[in-house]
Amino acid sequence: MTLFCTNCGKEADKNAEFCPHCGEKIVEDNLVKEYKKNVSHTKNPNPDNIIKRKVKILYALVTLFFVILFLGSYILMKTKGY
Ligand SMILES: [Zn+2]
Repeated sequence: MTLFCTNCGKEADKNAEFCPHCGEKIVEDNLVKEYKKNVSHTKNPNPDNIIKRKVKILYALVTLFFVILFLGSYILMKTKGY
């Protein structure tokens, strides 16, 4: 059985505990398969990630709105003062 490094993906000796290429700890083949499955899973964003991204954009817009509101009232106060 050949083991593959989960960090660099290169072949490593089955008796080796650490990858000779990058020094990452060697895991068994089934763990590599699991790792690859996880990688392909992240390529297809699930609805949770899309919602989180939308929430982030919403937060950015709300922050921007308050900044504009603050600056607007600040300028208004200054112009009223003069
Ligand atoms: Zn490696």
